Amino acid sequence: MRTDERTTLIDELVLANHILFNRGVVDAFGHVSVRDERDPQRFLMARNMAPAQVSAQDVMAFALDGTPLGEDARKPYLERFIHGSIYRARPDVGAVVHSHSAAVIPFGIVAGVPLRPVCHMSSFLGDGAPIFEIREAAGPENDMLVRDERLGDALARTLGASPAVLMRGHGSTVVGRTVRHAVFRAVYTEINARLQAEALRLGPVTYLSEPEARGASLANESQIDRAWELWSCERPALSVL
Ligand SMILES: [Zn+2]
Repeated sequence: MRTDERTTLIDELVLANHILFNRGVVDAFGHVSVRDERDPQRFLMARNMAPAQVSAQDVMAFALDGTPLGEDARKPYLERFIHGSIYRARPDVGAVVHSHSAAVIPFGIVAGVPLRPVCHMSSFLGDGAPIFEIREAAGPENDMLVRDERLGDALARTLGASPAVLMRGHGSTVVGRTVRHAVFRAVYTEINARLQAEALRLGPVTYLSEPEARGASLANESQIDRAWELWSCERPALSVL
């Protein structure tokens, strides 16, 4: 990757942080990372701070085991292992969003009501998102956080080949090929959760069928930049932060 390409990658990562805040996916907590295309064994992510306040100088580089690179002594996110483990397990993944977006959480804690696509924009959810039960990996004495590589690997195993994994009593993690792809999916995962919860209150829900989900997901692939460009326009509101 040339220097200007790397700068673009960092700029997109910064913008992703802001968009995810503007769209209600992250608040003071949550994080987004991108695989370093120059070295796929590394990823880039902000230091430990609120996403809305991230700028290019806050971006750190990490090895896939979560070790900060370049003798960077700044405080990293506690749950950086989510990202490294997923990049190691999923060569197809180029970006990861971890959040505590509120509407998704109920679907990780209520047995028998899986998060499934109810509209075409969230069709990438396919046949539903798996749920990570941290007690199975960490035992009954845990603090709910994916705070080491072993737990990161367990989360990546639960994610499997899916686009998203729900984390019981905690939040969710969404992956994509690029930063834009992961952000698109994270935003529409939250929207789907809101719509699905509303629909379930009204009565029996008709979900997208498997061929509908597959077809709509394919159709949306070419529309991701359109959403990104709109959401990018919201950035000036954050310049006062
Ligand atoms: Zn978390």
